[in-house]
Amino acid sequence: MQKLQNFIAGQFCDPVSNRWLDVENPSRGQIYGKCPNSDELDVDKAVEAASSALNRWRAIDPHTRSEFLYKIADLLEASAEEFALAESQDQGKPLSLARTMDIPRAIENFRFFAGKALHTSSDSFRTNEHVLHYTERSPLGVVALISPWNLPLYLLSWKIAPAIAFGNTVVCKPSELTPLTAFKLCHVLSQAGLPAGVVNMVFGTGPSAGQPLVAHKKVRAISFTGGTKTGAQIAATAAPQFKKMSLELGGKNPNIIFEDANFELAVQTSVRSSFLNQGEICLCGSRIYVQKSIFEKFIQSFVEHTKRFKVGHPLHADTKVGALVSAEHLAKVDSYVQIALADGGQLLTGGRRETVNGECEGGYFYQPTILTGVPHTSRAIQEEIFGPVVTVTPFETEAEVLNLANELEYGLAASVWTENLSRAHRVAKKIESGIVWVNGWLLRDLRTPFGGMKASGIGREGGDWSYDFFTECKDVCIQVRNEITGERA
Ligand code: NDP
Repeated sequence: MQKLQNFIAGQFCDPVSNRWLDVENPSRGQIYGKCPNSDELDVDKAVEAASSALNRWRAIDPHTRSEFLYKIADLLEASAEEFALAESQDQGKPLSLARTMDIPRAIENFRFFAGKALHTSSDSFRTNEHVLHYTERSPLGVVALISPWNLPLYLLSWKIAPAIAFGNTVVCKPSELTPLTAFKLCHVLSQAGLPAGVVNMVFGTGPSAGQPLVAHKKVRAISFTGGTKTGAQIAATAAPQFKKMSLELGGKNPNIIFEDANFELAVQTSVRSSFLNQGEICLCGSRIYVQKSIFEKFIQSFVEHTKRFKVGHPLHADTKVGALVSAEHLAKVDSYVQIALADGGQLLTGGRRETVNGECEGGYFYQPTILTGVPHTSRAIQEEIFGPVVTVTPFETEAEVLNLANELEYGLAASVWTENLSRAHRVAKKIESGIVWVNGWLLRDLRTPFGGMKASGIGREGGDWSYDFFTECKDVCIQVRNEITGERA
C-alpha cells in the first residue's frame, strides 16, 4: 500500500487531523494506497507556507525562476516512464496515451513557461511631451490551483508552471481520485531545489479541502478546471471577496461533418475525438452532426472503425480505451445511455460495461458507445456525459447545424469538417465556443488562448493570457516637468 502525503513548506507531512482517503486503481477496482483527507487546518498551513515564501520568490529575477522550471522539466523527462505508469494506474487511461500525451505535455508546460518568463514586456503610452504611462506587472500573491481527474498532471502543470514562472506562490488541490502524479511531482520539485513554500500540495475532497482553500482570505486568485456546477460554487464563494478567477469548465462539443469533408480523415479523427482517454477529455466531440447526404455512409464507417478501437488492459500496447475513473463515474455514464434509449435513441454499438479478463476483471471499463435518433431535447444531448458515449444526428443546412451546435449552454470547443474554405470561415466565426478546429481535433499550441464561452468558463489561459491572468496590471504615469520653467503639462 502506498502512502501519499501533503507537501507543505518543502516538507512531506501527514494531514493534521490524521484522516485519510483510499486511492484506487480503476482498471482493477483495487485500492492501492491512501492519501490525506485534508481539511481547513492543512489548508491554513499550506497558505501560510505559500504566503511566507512569496516575498523571496517574487524578488527572484525571472532568469532564475526560468532555470527552476527548466530543471523541473528535465527531471520530469528523466522519470517520464515512471510518471506515465503512475498516471495510467491512477486514472485508468492506456499507458500508451500517458506516454505520448499526458507526460510529454506536462514536461512541455514547464519548458514553455520557463521560456515565457524570459519574454515578457510591458506597454507604454505617451499622452504628450510631458506625460508618459507604462504598465507595471506584478505577481498576484498566493494562488489556489484546483484540478480534475481526467488529465491529472497535464492540467495541474498547466497551472503550476505559469503561476510560479510569473512570481506567484501556490497551493494546489488536485482531484483526490488521481493524486499520484501530483505527489510524485512534489519529489521532483524538491529535487529541483525549488525554494520551500513556492508550491504546496494539499490532497483531499472538494468540500473538505477545496472549499476552505477557495474561501481563504490570503488566497488572491483561483485557477480552476473542473465541472460547471463546481465552477459556479467556487465563483459564489470567491466573487464576494473579489478574487481573480479563471474557470475552465465542462463542455458538450459539436463535431460537424459536411458532405464535402475529407471523409476518411473525418471518420478516423472522429473516433479519436469521441473515445480518446475513454471520452474523458473536456474537448471530446460528443455531439456529432453529419450532413444528410453522407449520414448513412458515415454511420457505417464510423461504427466499423469504432469497433476496432480496442478496450483493454491499460498496459497493453494495442489498447485504445482504458478504464473509467471510478465505479461511480461508470454508473453515471451508463445512466445517460439509458436516458438516451428511454428518449427514443437507438444503439449502434456499445452501451454496456466491458469485462477485461485477467487482473483487470474488476475494472470499470465501458464500451465505446454510438447512439443515433436521440431527440435534441434529451438530457443525453443537453448535458455533459464525460465518457465514451456520442450521439450522431443528421442535418440538412448550414443554418440548421449552427442552431443545433449553439443551442446548448456549453461553449468550449467545436470541430468543423469541410473542404469549402468560405464555409469553414463562416461556420468557425458563428460557432459559440472558445476553440474551433477546422479539419482536425486537439491540435494545441501553448501560445494560443484556451478557455470556454458561456457555461464552459470564464477567462483564457495559455501564452500571454496566462501572463495576464497570473499577474496584476498597474498603470504608472510619469509627469515630466519642464526643466527650465518647471511648468507641468
Ligand atoms: P469537479 O468539478 O467535480 O472537480 C474538479 C476539482 O474541484 C476537484 O479537485 C474537486 O475535488 C474540486 N472541488 C469540488 N468541489 C469543490 C469546491 N466546492 N471547492 C473547491 N474545489 C472543489 O470535476 P471533475 O474532477 O469531475 O472533472 C471533470 C470535469 O472537468 C468535467 O466537467 C470536464 O469537462 C471538466 N474539465 C474541463 C476542462 C477545461 O479545460 N475546460 C479540462 C478538463 C476537465 P474532488 O475531486 O474531491 O471533487
